[in-house]
Amino acid sequence: MKIKVYGQPNKSAKVRVLNPVSHQKIIRRLFTFDKDGVAIVDTDKLKARHVKELLKRYKYEEIVLLEAEETPVGAVDEIPIEADEPVKMYACKHCGMEFDAPYKLAQHVRKEHPKNKGET
Ligand SMILES: [Zn+2]
Repeated sequence: MKIKVYGQPNKSAKVRVLNPVSHQKIIRRLFTFDKDGVAIVDTDKLKARHVKELLKRYKYEEIVLLEAEETPVGAVDEIPIEADEPVKMYACKHCGMEFDAPYKLAQHVRKEHPKNKGET
C-alpha cells in the first residue's frame, strides 16, 4: 500500500530501533519529507511496527491510484475487449463461416471438412 504522509518540510521521519549488535537504541531515518512536507511511502517496504508508529504520528492519506505509474509492458494484451469493439473473426477457408475463436474454427473444420484437409 502506498500512502501520502504529511510532516514537516525537509525533515525526516525517524524511528528508534535496537541495534542488533550493540543492543543500543539508534535512530533510523525512514524517509524525508519534501519541501511541501509530503512524502510518498510504500508501506510494504517498511516494517509493520514502523508503519504503525508513522500512522500514529503523522497525518496521511492512502493513495489509490498513482497517475504517474506506467502500465507494465505486456499487460496491454490482457485488457478485456469491450463489447462494442470489433472482435477478431476467424473465417473458415473452406466455406467462409466465421468464428470468434480459433478453437471453434478448428472444431468446425474437423467436423465439417474432414476430407478437405490441406485444400485451399
Ligand atoms: Zn467451413
